[in-house]
Amino acid sequence: MLKRARERIPKTENKERFEIPIAEVTTGKQTSIKNFTEIAKALRRDSKHLSKFLFKELAVPGSSRGTELLLQGKFYPGPIKQKIEEYAKEYVFCQECGKPDTNMTEEGKIVVIKCEACGARKTGRKL
Ligand SMILES: [Zn+2]
Repeated sequence: MLKRARERIPKTENKERFEIPIAEVTTGKQTSIKNFTEIAKALRRDSKHLSKFLFKELAVPGSSRGTELLLQGKFYPGPIKQKIEEYAKEYVFCQECGKPDTNMTEEGKIVVIKCEACGARKTGRKL
């Protein structure tokens, strides 16, 4: 019997997709995002800007403690991850090429997100 070695073509995708670090969330009376500063760093945004976005979107106050972000309310990981993705979509990813290599500057009442890879610009709401 011939055992045919199935050759698996390794999927080498050169695309090198950028992944937002998965939020480590603990839920209790208050909610903690343990790796909050890591997420902000990966997105190359000021953690204060990201926290402001979350406080506003989730409509709760909160505070930072070391590398954590504490939210004064009970939230499950799902909606938090979703909000972080929304943030990335609005303030990080380039709408033209989809890369996360962008710079954000505030101009008057808006923010301008400029892509380092393709030069495209987009605007977002100022928080
Ligand atoms: Zn781009």
